Amino acid sequence: MAGSKPKIAIVGAGMGGLAAAATLRQVGIDVNVYEQAPKFARIGAGIQMLPNSSRVLRGIGVLEKLQKVAFEPYSHLNRVWDTGEIKRELPMPESLYGAPFLCMHRADLHEALYSVLPPEIVHLDKKLVGLDQTKGGVTLSFADGTKADADAVIGADGVHSLVRDIVVGPDKPIHKGRIAYRAVFDASLMNGGEIQASRTKWWGVDRHIVIYYTAADRSSLYFVTSVPEPADWLTSESWSAKGDVKELRSAYEGFHPEVQMVLNACPDCHKWAILEREPLPRWSDGRVVLLGDACHPMTPYMAQGAATSIEDAAVLARCLAGVDNDGIEGAFRRYEANRKPRTSRIQAISSANTWMSGGNEDTSWLYGYDAWNVPLVGENDM
Ligand code: FAD
Repeated sequence: MAGSKPKIAIVGAGMGGLAAAATLRQVGIDVNVYEQAPKFARIGAGIQMLPNSSRVLRGIGVLEKLQKVAFEPYSHLNRVWDTGEIKRELPMPESLYGAPFLCMHRADLHEALYSVLPPEIVHLDKKLVGLDQTKGGVTLSFADGTKADADAVIGADGVHSLVRDIVVGPDKPIHKGRIAYRAVFDASLMNGGEIQASRTKWWGVDRHIVIYYTAADRSSLYFVTSVPEPADWLTSESWSAKGDVKELRSAYEGFHPEVQMVLNACPDCHKWAILEREPLPRWSDGRVVLLGDACHPMTPYMAQGAATSIEDAAVLARCLAGVDNDGIEGAFRRYEANRKPRTSRIQAISSANTWMSGGNEDTSWLYGYDAWNVPLVGENDM
């Protein structure tokens, strides 16, 4: 109905979906979130929030809470796999980009985002199976046979997004032929050993490993790798697949003693397929728009997947602020015009895995980005 405030449905309660629910509510939009999982599980993984995303988290009102539990690394440190020689180090005090660099357990970030939402707007066990768009709204259909109506839909349903298939047409994400082993575990398992107080990436010839603490008191740590995987291993159940810790250790034989210490202490691990896509031709179709991994999945090598999803949430809310039901489609195009150049640039650098590999490239365009205040272009300025 013209003149009324939009009622928007978000599909997916991951980092992007929850962040969007929070930012849209801040501009007075009536939001409901539909998530396929029957409950939220504490997935064993760490996550880095660089200043570009911490700044958004501050605006959402969860940064202070996270700073109490998260580890604040001294620097973004890049070292040679065996000698430990420093390729590039970027100290990251809060004063550098006006927001902190934080490393934490993924579940702590998810819980913080969920905590600012009224629980009754997040509907679990609601797997989207179809969307039916009419001139004035959208009907969502779920696997349990129920339906919901909304003025518009945001597909924040991740790399295997069904909403993406509906907006752009079905295809498969690109598999890089590489996998990521990962584990979060208790630092006491290192028997008194310590890792550096930075987020360290150890660069090998055809593989790397990133290691950091995930708690302010350094009681837990995390690593994530990228290694070639000969068989085209792919899983859509990507968060829970187990890896073989012996295979992992042998993949990092000869790496620096600090890496060996971490891998020898690690009791078990999970593995993920590393997936990405080329930038999409469009992010919206009428009243349905994409956000986060649904529209710009990227390799994890710049630690920007969740960060850019969270940035999307801030910019989308700015584009929708004050817009009535008739203005939604234009607001969605404006959001894409403002976000796609940046996310496409990050996708390309992340895919090449060249970020901070030794050169002295500018980092301010990435970490200094302020999603709340960056000037917005019009929808036709693409
Ligand atoms: P997701 O987090 O995937 O959430 C999608 C949600 O949608 C899920 O809850 C899913 O259950 C739900 N869903 C899917 N289909 C349906 C459906 N049909 N109906 C209802 N619900 C549905 N990013 C960073 O910023 N920093 C990092 O340090 C970092 N490290 C990473 C390390 C690795 C190894 C990997 C693989 C990724 C990493 N990322 C990192 C990227 C980050 O994990 C993703 O970019 C981020 O989770 C994307 O958020 P999202 O909300 O778009 O999607």
